Amino acid sequence: MPLSEFELIDRFFAASPCAGAGTGVVLGIGDDAAILSLPPGEELLVSVDTLVAGVHFPTGLPARAIGHRALAVNLSDLAAMGARPRWFTLALTLPQADEAWLAEFAAGLGALAARAGITLVGGDTTRGPLSITVQVHGTLPAGTALRRDGASPGDEVWVSGYPGLAALGLRQLQAGGSGGTAVTAFLAPEPRLALGEALRGLASAAIDVSDGLLADAGHIARRSAVALRLEAAALPLAPALGELPREEALGFCLAGGDDYELCFTAATGQAAAIGALAARLGLTCTRIGRVEAGDGAECIGFQPPRRGYRHFGDS
Ligand code: ADP
Ligand code: MG
Repeated sequence: MPLSEFELIDRFFAASPCAGAGTGVVLGIGDDAAILSLPPGEELLVSVDTLVAGVHFPTGLPARAIGHRALAVNLSDLAAMGARPRWFTLALTLPQADEAWLAEFAAGLGALAARAGITLVGGDTTRGPLSITVQVHGTLPAGTALRRDGASPGDEVWVSGYPGLAALGLRQLQAGGSGGTAVTAFLAPEPRLALGEALRGLASAAIDVSDGLLADAGHIARRSAVALRLEAAALPLAPALGELPREEALGFCLAGGDDYELCFTAATGQAAAIGALAARLGLTCTRIGRVEAGDGAECIGFQPPRRGYRHFGDS
């Protein structure tokens, strides 16, 4: 007998450890809406992202990786704002109720949820082409969020980790590869939650790198009404990228999407604190350029053939 919608929700989501009683959950899965209680003095940050099979990930990607990525890309938005993850909802559209697939999907989602300390409080389940929408809710002390519009001339531009690695991993997967650091970076991106929270008060602006470093730096530039000038010579190239011709490696680093690293700006005087923070978190943070008067983001010393990923054209 195929699973009914309610059995499916109960078995794979309502009974999952990540759907237990979380802080602030007055009422979780099972009613018409969840009831959540916000601590006094805190603001609520809300973000939603949809992953469509064949658009955001190759069809046939392991279900565990899909579950992880669906939550990871959303947690990354909270990280970029400096928020602490609290609650999420899951709208799942499935072609069929395949129990083995669902078990793996829920395991990937649940493991990351547990690590991030976020509770599943509701969702929706429908039949159709595979698509996953996660909405995350985070909190932080009122007025302390990291925004895209806080960069000023004189600030420095930083990036965590090794952008471009995930795009290389996707290419390797599409070519039949299955292992290595690049493939892992694509299948299991790690949202930089601890970094984001610790950057509150240190960074002047931040964004997570989902479309490509240069394109996302351009979003900070536009929202802050400044220019971000990156330097090709300063870009951190992962060892796996270092094996490619330099032009190609820089192209991946500047235009490859899907990394979910943080690109942020900070006053020059914060460099030592950022270095100490990165060391404490066991993360690489690299100074890659500076903020100047002007507009747009550019890379001095290299022009990538494309800037990043867009769904609806480059006009
Ligand atoms: P309604 O018809 O009132 O929208 P649903 O039948 O869609 O209710 O959902 C029943 C309950 O299960 C609700 O509390 C809803 O939030 C939850 N739910 C539905 N789908 C999911 C899912 N994929 N993950 C988590 N909770 C879900
Ligand atoms: Mg519903």
